[in-house]
Parts: sequence; C-alpha cells; structure tokens
Amino acid sequence: MDHFLYRSGTLHAEDVALADIAQVVQTPFYCYSTATLTRHYKLFTEALSPLPHMVCFAIKSLSNLAVLKTLGELGAGMDVVSGGEYMRAKAAGVPGDRIVFSGVGKTRDEMRMALTGGIRQFNVESEPEMRALSEVATSLGLVAPITIRVNPDVDARTHEKIATGKSENKFGIPIARASEVYAEAASLPGLEVIGIDVHIGSQLTELEPFEQAYTKVADLTRQLRAEGHDIRRLDLGGGLGIPYARGNEAPPLPTEYGDLIKRTVGDLGCEIEIEPGRLISGNSGVLVSRVIYVKEGEGRDFLILDAAMNDLVRPSMYGAHHDIVAVEEPEPGVDTHTFDVVGPVCETGDTFAKARPLPQLKAGDLVAFRSAGAYGAVMASEYNTRPLVPEVLVHGDHYAVIRARPTFEEILARDTIPEWL
Ligand SMILES: *Cc1c(COP(=O)(O)O)cnc(C)c1O
Repeated sequence: MDHFLYRSGTLHAEDVALADIAQVVQTPFYCYSTATLTRHYKLFTEALSPLPHMVCFAIKSLSNLAVLKTLGELGAGMDVVSGGEYMRAKAAGVPGDRIVFSGVGKTRDEMRMALTGGIRQFNVESEPEMRALSEVATSLGLVAPITIRVNPDVDARTHEKIATGKSENKFGIPIARASEVYAEAASLPGLEVIGIDVHIGSQLTELEPFEQAYTKVADLTRQLRAEGHDIRRLDLGGGLGIPYARGNEAPPLPTEYGDLIKRTVGDLGCEIEIEPGRLISGNSGVLVSRVIYVKEGEGRDFLILDAAMNDLVRPSMYGAHHDIVAVEEPEPGVDTHTFDVVGPVCETGDTFAKARPLPQLKAGDLVAFRSAGAYGAVMASEYNTRPLVPEVLVHGDHYAVIRARPTFEEILARDTIPEWL
C-alpha cells in the first residue's frame, strides 16, 4: 500500500497533485511520500514486536537526508556501507549507537570515522578486515563491537546481480568456517564479538531462502555459544522484495517475515536487527517525467520521455520492470496503445519498457514510474551531462524540494582546466 492515488482525475502524492509539483520543479523529478515511508517502517517494527529489535534502514536504497531524518525521528537505526553514508546518517541526526556498518571493503579511514563518531556495530566480512579493524581500534584505544557476516550458501532465487548469499558471492565468510574465524576474533585486541550477521540478497519474493538462512544462523548461535562466545545480537539483513508489477506479484508481507523470524531465531534471547531498504523506500517514491515526443516507428511507436537511464538505471541494469502510469487518470475503459518507452540518452539500453500498453499519450503529458523510491535517485548519474534529478518530499498537503536540480553552471564548475591548456 502506498499514498500515490488518483484524486479528481489526477495522480497525487498524499494530498499534493504531482502535476502541481511538475509546474514548479519541472521534470523529471523524484517524489517521495512521508506517510508511505512511515507506514513501511512501522510495519517492520510491529512485525518484530515483542522481540527486542532494531530496524536499521539500508541507506543505500535511498539516502536523501530528509528521508533519513524522517525515519530517524521514528527511532529507526541505519545500515551504512560507506563513510559517506555514515556521514549522512550522522548529518540526519541519527546517533552512532543506532548505526550499523556493513560492506566488504571498509577502509581504515572509514573504520576510524565510525569508531570515533560512535557506532552500534561493524558487520565484519573477512579475516583481513577483522585484523585491520582490531589494529585501528587498538591504535585509538577503543573497542569495536562486531558481528561477523556469514555466508550461508543459500540461493536467494533473485536477480544474479543482487544475490549475495551463495558461496560464490564475495560477501561474508563461509558459514562452515565460522567457528575458526570467531575464535580468532575473540583473541584479537580491540574487538568485542557480540553477534552474527547475514544478508542473502535483495528483492526476495519468497520466504523459503530466508527460512534456510535463519535456521542456519540459529544453529550457529547455539554452536558459538557452546564454544564460549557471548552471541547476543543477530543481524538478519534486508532483502524482502516488493511488487513491481501490480496485480501480478505478491511477495511476502512484513508480518509473515516477522513470524518467520520469530519461528527460526525468536527463542534464542537475542536482540534482532534487520536492514530493510527497498521495502521501506521502494513504493514510497515515484519518478515523474514528461513525454517529449511520440515517434512512430516501424511496427512500433516510441514514447520518448525526458527521463532516461541515467535517472533510473534499474530497467537497463537489471532488466527491471516498473509500472508506468499516466498522471492524468485515463477514462475507464479507454483504448490503450502499445509503446516502447525510452529516454533521450544515446544508447539502445536507454529503454524503460517494450511493447507496454498505455493510454494514448501525447507530447507534453506527464507519466509516473511507480516503485522508484529504492535504488532510483541514489544510482542516478549525470551521463550525457543530464543534471541529477531533483528530489521532492511530500508531507500531507505540502511538499519541499529536498535536493535541487543542479544548474549547468554548477555541473561545469566541478571540472578544472589544467594550467597548460
Ligand atoms: C543492500 C543491502 C541491504 C538492503 O537490501 P534491500 O533489498 O534494499 O532490503 C541490507 N543489508 C545489506 C548488507 C545490503 O548490502
């Protein structure tokens, strides 16, 4: 459920008409709904109650400071994967003891930043990282709380680029070696082993892979405790999928996911952490774009939009589907027309959809890509020197631009011409 609905014949974000925002902000732009972000965050906290838990929003899915502040004020923790994301979490007012640091390639500078700024835990992904963290923490006279990310060798049955829990993936340590790695961690100065971490992939549309992974984590918890480790926190990662094609897909609900967590690890007395990104941010955002031209081609018509692959890369990168809707509500029963929906970038890969049935749109009309809140704006680039798309946050009947579109002058000013030219 989200808060993007037609009212009086035009698509709204909560109580604001998207067409009104388009008038002021110009297209394309991302638009997020506060009510939807809030609702999705609360679904998770409710699904995990009464277990002691923290829902750490995966910042990489949508990292605008205003969004982070919205969630942070509800009590959310944050899952960061870089020093830059750590800075974002802090800048949004989230205290260090609610920030979890994930990622396979944390640098010593990033470790130092998080240790001195405050951190809830590092999710360590390899032995070299563990040794480096021990050295950095010791040199600062600090202790780094850690979990170790285990790779449970489970097939997440999702897109290959976002499956992370198979043994051939770069993530975590093989679960079979956990005993050995935990023993070394316990022996190193500057580290405090507090738990186990697992994250098997993104956009999972079935519970089964989670069930397999969490059952292995439960077994490992008992084993490591028997070996003398004080395992008191389980970070179960993110990854719950969302319906991108409405009407055809029904991924598991957060309540079902919460029940699964209770069933598999609920009796261990551990504090539970989860790191959802997409399920909180995905359906909380749309990308609004304007039709530039309708071009009649050989056997197919193209809808050429002012948004392109640099603004929303998921279709060209993952072959992802996004529902595309007309901002002006089509009359019920009106004929549809089949379009290839494309952007202006000079690549054939700049195609959002092929042979998509849509209302008979014309130049100047507005369309919205649904479910564009996650991995949308954060993955945008300025390819073709197209300015980064602005972001807008709606709250009830008002809205604010939370990242402005850069001017061409600002973009050009980032380059420098060396003195010999
Ligand atoms: C990407 C990622 C997440 C979030 O995944 P979603 O599919 O957006 O829920 C959580 N944890 C880690 C370690 C990740 O890399």
